[in-house]
This record gives sequence, structure tokens and C-alpha cells, in this order.
Amino acid sequence: MKAAVFHMPGKITCDTVDDPIIEDPNDIILKVTSTAICGSDLHMYSGGMPQLKPMVMGHEFMGIVEEVGANISHLQRGDRVVVPFPIACGGCYFCQHNLPSACENSNPDHYGPEGGILTEKGGGMFGYTDLYGGYSGGQAQYVRVPYANFGPRKVPDILTDEQVLFLTDIFPTGYTGVMWGELKGGESVAIFGAGPVGSMAVKSAILHNAGKVIVIDTLQYRLDQIKKLTGCETILWEDAEQTVEQIRDLTEGRGADLCIDAVGFEPERNLLDKAKAVLNFEKGSIKVLEACMSGVRRGGTVSILGVYPVNYDNFAVGQIFDKGITLKAGQSPVHAIVDKLLKYVETGQVKLDDIITHRLSLDDVAKGYEIFHKKEDNCVKVVLDPWK
Ligand code: NAD
Ligand code: ZN
Ligand code: ZN
Repeated sequence: MKAAVFHMPGKITCDTVDDPIIEDPNDIILKVTSTAICGSDLHMYSGGMPQLKPMVMGHEFMGIVEEVGANISHLQRGDRVVVPFPIACGGCYFCQHNLPSACENSNPDHYGPEGGILTEKGGGMFGYTDLYGGYSGGQAQYVRVPYANFGPRKVPDILTDEQVLFLTDIFPTGYTGVMWGELKGGESVAIFGAGPVGSMAVKSAILHNAGKVIVIDTLQYRLDQIKKLTGCETILWEDAEQTVEQIRDLTEGRGADLCIDAVGFEPERNLLDKAKAVLNFEKGSIKVLEACMSGVRRGGTVSILGVYPVNYDNFAVGQIFDKGITLKAGQSPVHAIVDKLLKYVETGQVKLDDIITHRLSLDDVAKGYEIFHKKEDNCVKVVLDPWK
């Protein structure tokens, strides 16, 4: 079959690889009909998230069930499903407590912050380095889906692939960042990053009846796109101070009730060019976190959705204490919220596919990564068709 294979930073190509097979009675094989490139994939592409051997990429995918393992009772051949990006068993302590991305069984060997006092077990992910279990991903014609009674969700035939594809990751992720803010309606939300995740956070803030949604980015074309789609306020980031001043101006001087970091670790955008990486680190995304801490009001919440593949960094602990900030971070518990989010799509309360700027064949995956990474051609979201 054809698949997008990671070889080394900067080199992801469409190769011919072996078809996946059922390895466990709880597996299915999915024929992938649509898949997307995520900002998290860019951390691998640029070397920020290390992977030492080739791997089939991709954790945002959907398709048609091709084959089912002996234990599969929830699905049959021919079902059309979307697949949550965390690989989760459904039975362990964490899965039972709505924390599927911390599943103890999908990645038993290890993933955990090396910088902690003890390392910890943690969840697996499709196509996202050996640290996350070494599973092959879904930027491919076929993919093996483990624990398939728990993860995949059937989707109605009347909805197109593009209408539901982002239920796999970026819509639940954006929604989670807003959910953590426990809005009651009327609040101000400042969202750093107008990429796919930030855009989904904007849509989610609107679903939560936020009173004011402010989006910050360094790229004017992305701010223009999300403003056109949602009518949100925008701030073009020049530096942290100017950004925070503008947020306060828009929030009666107090700061936003909720700040969301949908940027994450940024230097990797130029890690392929080492010199620029060092420069960018100086004024990179830790500045975004600082701006979140300064831009949020006393007693407000900061949600960190952006990925930080680093163990330690300078951290505004004094601000967290002094202002009484609630800090929430991590991967979205997709399994716990995806059914509710599918309803929003089905009833037309939210539209997800309007952020897609590029539709490519899987054959052109190298080009897809390059333009998304370099933010060329007004790129916001790339969707790949494995069969075109
Ligand atoms: P992306 O790279 O398209 O978006 C990042 C955006 O941040 C870009 O528009 C960039 O211009 C902007 N940006 C850079 N510096 C900035 C600054 N100083 N101020 C404001 N904006 C700035 O990627 P994406 O797909 O939108 O993903 C965003 C982040 O979310 C990534 O770190 C990704 O790994 C992470 N992510 C997390 C989860 C999760 O479960 N927590 C899921 C998916 C993605
Ligand atoms: Zn993702
Ligand atoms: Zn589990």
C-alpha cells in the first residue's frame, strides 16, 4: 500500500510499504478514505519530537472498516468511522476515568517526562514516534486500529468525510481548551494561534457562548481567515507586551477570563535551519505562555493545548500563584467528548471543514508537509486523499 513515511526531519515521503494485518483480536483494519496533517506532525517533521527509525505518519484519519478481529462486537466490515487520535484500551483506570490519552495499556513500555522525579507510563498514539508506542499511523491507504471496540465512532452517511474528519483530533482539542475554562456564557477568551487548533478553539468558544473571542497570531493571513469565518477579534503578534496590552484594552483592563495556548513549541518551525532555531527559541513560544499568564485575569484559566516536547523551561510560577491562575494542559480526552461533538456537527451548530485550504493526493504528501511547515500559499489545513 501507499503510506506517508517519516525518514528523518524534513523528509516524509509517499512510499510503498506492507499492508497492515490484524495482530490482536481487538484490532480492525481500516481502509482510509481521508486523512490530515496536524501541527503535531510538524514537531516530528522539524525534529522537535525525536524519531530514530522510519514510521508511517498520521493520527487524523477516517475510513471504512475492511476487516475485524475476533473480539470486535461494535463494528463490522463496511462501517464508516472516525478514529480518535489517542490509542486507548477502554478498561484501565485512566480510560475508566475519562483520560484515554493516559491509557496504561496502549503504551506500557514507557512514555513520560524524563525530567520528572520518576518516569511514568502513558498512552499510545497513531504515527507519533516510538515514545508514543511506535504505532503505524493513518496517512496511508490502510491502518491497523487497536482496541477498536472503544475508539472508532460510526458517522452518518449524509455527512461528507471533510465534515467529520476533524472529530479525530483538532475539534476535540480546541473544544477541550475551552471546556477547561468552565465558561458560563459571556466570558472573554484569548486564543493564541490561528492555526487549525486555534481555529477549532474559536468555534468551540462560540459554542460555549463566549462574549468576546480574541485571536492572536504572527501571520496576518491566518487572522484574516478566522475573522472572516467567525467574526472574532484579532491581534497581530509583534511581541508579548504589545499583545497583552491589547488583550487588556479589549477586556476592560482586567485580562481575559480564559487564555488558550494553541501554539506550542515553535522553534522547530526552523529547526531544519539550526541558526534560526536558536534565534526563534529566544522569542519563541515560551513567550506565548508568558503572554497567556499576563493576559489572563486574576483567578482566570490558562489552557495549554500546544505541545511542549521539552522537560524544563522558564516558567512564570510567581504569576500563577499571585494571580491565582488555574492551569490546565495536555492532550484532549477525545473518547470522552467525541459523541457530543458529532451531534454539534450533525445538527449544523458547527462547521469544521471551512478551514481546509489544501486538498492533495497522498502521493503529494512531501509537498503537503513542506507548505504547512513553511506556512506557504496561505496554508491552514492540508487534507490528503490516499486513493486519488
Ligand atoms: P500550526 O503550526 O498550524 O499553528 C500554530 C500557529 O501558531 C501558527 O498559525 C503560528 O503562526 C502561530 N504562532 C507562532 N508564534 C506565535 C506567537 N508568538 N503568537 C501567536 N501565534 C503564534 O499547528 P496546529 O495544527 O494549529 O497546532 C497547534 C499546536 O497544538 C501544536 O503545538 C500542536 O502540536 C498542538 N496540538 C495539541 C493537541 C492536544 O491534544 N493537546 C492536539 C493537536 C495539536
Ligand atoms: Zn494532532
Ligand atoms: Zn486504557
